[in-house]
Amino acid sequence: MGWLLPNTEVDLEFRRQVEALSGHNIADCYQCGKCTAGCPVAFAMDYPPNQIMRGVQLGMRDAVLSSGTIWLCASCETCSTRCPQDVDPAGVMDALRQIAYAEGIKSPEQAVPLFHRIFLGSVRQFGRVYELALVGFYNVFSGHYLKDVTMAPKMLLKGKLNLLPPKGGDVGGLKKMFDAARELEAERE
Ligand code: SF4
Ligand code: SF4
Repeated sequence: MGWLLPNTEVDLEFRRQVEALSGHNIADCYQCGKCTAGCPVAFAMDYPPNQIMRGVQLGMRDAVLSSGTIWLCASCETCSTRCPQDVDPAGVMDALRQIAYAEGIKSPEQAVPLFHRIFLGSVRQFGRVYELALVGFYNVFSGHYLKDVTMAPKMLLKGKLNLLPPKGGDVGGLKKMFDAARELEAERE
């Protein structure tokens, strides 16, 4: 883990943008560090969650949006549950991902947005996740061609992985949800 140093360009509109998206007052964060202490992924992050919150307070747009932290966050909500100020760091991470994705900011953790895209594509097409295709596409597009392939035979034999796409998903209902999300996105732009 590193430290966010206040030597990048300061963009004070950034904090307002994150507050509008997350619905919380970021200024309320008083840097107690409880979010970081409970975060199960903090060890792998380039900046811990409380520093990301500080970076947003200080308008350090570039440093925050190009961090790997916002993509490594697992949305487990432990931080939000522990936060004594009800600032909802998990919601802030989500808002930051939305901004970074919309602005095409390249993530140092490129495999994560790739996984999200393939996962959502599968859900949109089948109404459920088609795990075999998810793993296959992810391995091909991430360049980790043989990742976890040795586990496949065992999982197939135990019925944990299906060769065929899933059936019974509510494709129509999900299409409506995706369309509504797209409309909301367009309204925001
Ligand atoms: S737990 Fe809440 S108040 Fe404490 S540092 Fe994290 S976001 Fe800020
Ligand atoms: S929601 Fe993200 S930042 Fe918060 S504790 Fe979980 S992984 Fe860490």
